[in-house]
Amino acid sequence: MKKRGILLSKPVKTRKTGQIITAQMVNEILILNCYKDKKLIARYCMSSNDNQYESFVNGKWVHKKIFNIFGYEDWQHGNARKDIKLNSNEDEKIVDLFFKKTCISQLDELDQRESSHLRKKAETAYEKKVKRIDALMEMIPTLPDDFEKWSSKVMFNDEEFMFYDKEKDNYFCTACGKEHIEKNLKHNEKWICNRTKHEVIVKRRQQSIMKKERCMVIQNMDNTRSVARHFTVDKVWNKEGSTFEAYEDVRYILYKDGSKRVQWFYGQYTKADEFRQDWWDTNRSGKHCLIECCYPGTCREGLKNTVYENMDIPLMAEKGWKLCYNRVMANHKICGFLEYMVKGNFERLTRETSEEFSCWGGYCGSLLNLEGNKVHEIFGVDMQRVNRLRQKNGGMNYLRWLKWEQENRSLPEDTIQWLENNNIRPEDIEFMENRMSPVQIANYLKRQEEESKKSISGLLDTWKDYLSMAERIKMDSNNEMIFRPKKLKHSHDELVLMIEQKDAAIKAGEMLLKYEKVDNICAELKEKYEFEDEIYAIVAPRGIEDIIVEGKILQHCMDKTDRYFDRINQRETYILFLRKKEDVNKPYYTLEVEPSGTIRQKRTLGDRQNEDIEEAKKFLTKWQKEIQKRTTEEDKKLGEDSRRMRIEGYRKLREENSRIRGGYLAGTLLADVLEADLMEINTDDRKAG
Ligand SMILES: [Zn+2]
Repeated sequence: MKKRGILLSKPVKTRKTGQIITAQMVNEILILNCYKDKKLIARYCMSSNDNQYESFVNGKWVHKKIFNIFGYEDWQHGNARKDIKLNSNEDEKIVDLFFKKTCISQLDELDQRESSHLRKKAETAYEKKVKRIDALMEMIPTLPDDFEKWSSKVMFNDEEFMFYDKEKDNYFCTACGKEHIEKNLKHNEKWICNRTKHEVIVKRRQQSIMKKERCMVIQNMDNTRSVARHFTVDKVWNKEGSTFEAYEDVRYILYKDGSKRVQWFYGQYTKADEFRQDWWDTNRSGKHCLIECCYPGTCREGLKNTVYENMDIPLMAEKGWKLCYNRVMANHKICGFLEYMVKGNFERLTRETSEEFSCWGGYCGSLLNLEGNKVHEIFGVDMQRVNRLRQKNGGMNYLRWLKWEQENRSLPEDTIQWLENNNIRPEDIEFMENRMSPVQIANYLKRQEEESKKSISGLLDTWKDYLSMAERIKMDSNNEMIFRPKKLKHSHDELVLMIEQKDAAIKAGEMLLKYEKVDNICAELKEKYEFEDEIYAIVAPRGIEDIIVEGKILQHCMDKTDRYFDRINQRETYILFLRKKEDVNKPYYTLEVEPSGTIRQKRTLGDRQNEDIEEAKKFLTKWQKEIQKRTTEEDKKLGEDSRRMRIEGYRKLREENSRIRGGYLAGTLLADVLEADLMEINTDDRKAG
């Protein structure tokens, strides 16, 4: 826009008050002079060819839409259109002429032009970005010719298979691509293909094998750039031979001579090779660089003149090591010490260390001394132990135990290896300090593993759990019989039960203080209410504690509310247990019964009733008949009172509109549920009795 010409032109004035616009044309630019109560607040300009717009406000050029100039937000368009007016017909004509059409109001047309201009601008920027990224990606060379051959050898160990064909009764061999007729081969047996002399693994039960690996390829682009490309590689073997696919996930552009920071590009598809992948600078599908191999062929050339040039990445690549190359590169400033580990051939330790680097820079571990200039300084152990670590290709845990050994006492090789393989660190068994040595602990856990079939890490948790429970109930945890139980899992479960019962006993003690008659009443129930046939039995609780334990096991509300104890205390209802005879100590259904034998409630696990109760109902009727023979006049009177209280209770519940809050009956009227559960004694029988 030729701004000078615009500023030289004189703004057309208005005589009207309010928010008024006057229009004028200067060099094919539409100028809208914006007035508030006759005061000029801005000169808004739009050029005819591309609808580019700018406004001169308070002596400055700004990029604002016309409504914004008058102080309206984007969402206040409706008001703005009503409030802002063109000064005269003359002004309207000028604007119409500029837009070359007049089907909608001038201000609406202006608004649309502003929006379409913004949209076009964004589109152009996006297209430019697409072109820029595409051009950069075009510069990246294709994968080296021997990449697949190298991958098969290093990442997949040149594995080949022989698949059994049941119909033909022969094998297809992926090494020679032909069939072999062989007898007596076993699944997973290693065999030599007589055509290629290649080792093949016999597969009788599988029709195909798929393996997945990851890999980084560093390549030179030009004098200023290199690229680190990260692939997921799938190899599939089946009766047709083998297929190899390298899917490209992430590309890092590395700039030479420190000119620019690394640029990340992420593949937009989950599985696409280098020719089909689309690249963008946002990580929509959450791609990560993990443990991977590094292709050595182009590595040295690709790293030349980058900040990574002096790192030992080519050396690790040539050794075929798998590690988090990406994290190592991100920490190039602090991982000079890795040089000693790579040259010293500490493969596992290097890999595990690479995982402790942050992608954003920084070492999260605490085991290694990063400032060390010699391996024994970095590891913090003497040279003899350094050599042991190298020989056994030990990792972090191996080194942890070597350090422990140096400070305490020596450990046999197989113990250290067992501890490392089971991922146990010295701090994990500190809880046994002064009671058992690592060797004793290892032997103990091995025996418990056989005994319980639980994992070692699971057993360690069980052990700690067991000891804390033992200490809680004041067992002597320094006594070997206690801290080293013969059957750990069994002793643990026993303690859980014991503590639960102890809790119940404590609670029962509290309840008995409140409802002092309950235990005596329970003791009377046995004679009068216990009964059994071939399948079922009615068992009376011995006291509050039995009721609390039953409630805990069946997880119903009985141990959580005082209501039932209150009713027993007043002889309104009793609690009885319905059990199956074959397992008479195992909680089945809990019954709430009136002294007459009327059953108010029958509930099993989680306050429920299952279909099996229908079967048991016949037995309960039989029991009710038997009870009536046993009950005294006093029981009958108590039964009458209970009945009255029950009916009154239901009436109140209905009046209060009480409904069940949770569980499978939620929303139902409580009184309805209770009444449906009711099993009254037959009154005719009662009279007869
Ligand atoms: Zn073969």
